[in-house]
Amino acid sequence: MPKMLSSVLKNFIGGSATRKYPIEIRDVFENYRGELINSVSECTFCGICQKKCPSQCITVVRKEGVWDCDPFLCVYCGICVDACPKGCLTQKNIHRKPSRNREMISLKGEPPVKKTKKA
Ligand code: SF4
Ligand code: SF4
Repeated sequence: MPKMLSSVLKNFIGGSATRKYPIEIRDVFENYRGELINSVSECTFCGICQKKCPSQCITVVRKEGVWDCDPFLCVYCGICVDACPKGCLTQKNIHRKPSRNREMISLKGEPPVKKTKKA
């Protein structure tokens, strides 16, 4: 009981354990997994990131060279970054700014051209 009472008093007197985000932003730290970036010029539209993403927030349309991501579904786990064979996915050390609108990340690149067999 006295132990519990001391915890109650400590929490009552001490400051808040949470921050008033976005007014108060935590300092970044090493290996922080923030905003997802695709250097689309290096992307081969293989679709591995789409298959591996646990949130199913990536859509790849290989034929059209389209790479889409819904940042509102992303949980910033970094699995797509680790799985990308081209290393074109990275994560910034900051998060996206809060937004009232549901903006998709939609990138367009050049899909690799299929080699045709000579007759
Ligand atoms: S895994 Fe990498 S190369 Fe493949 S589609 Fe995703 S971002 Fe592009
Ligand atoms: S960071 Fe995780 S949740 Fe976000 S797109 Fe990549 S695999 Fe999906």
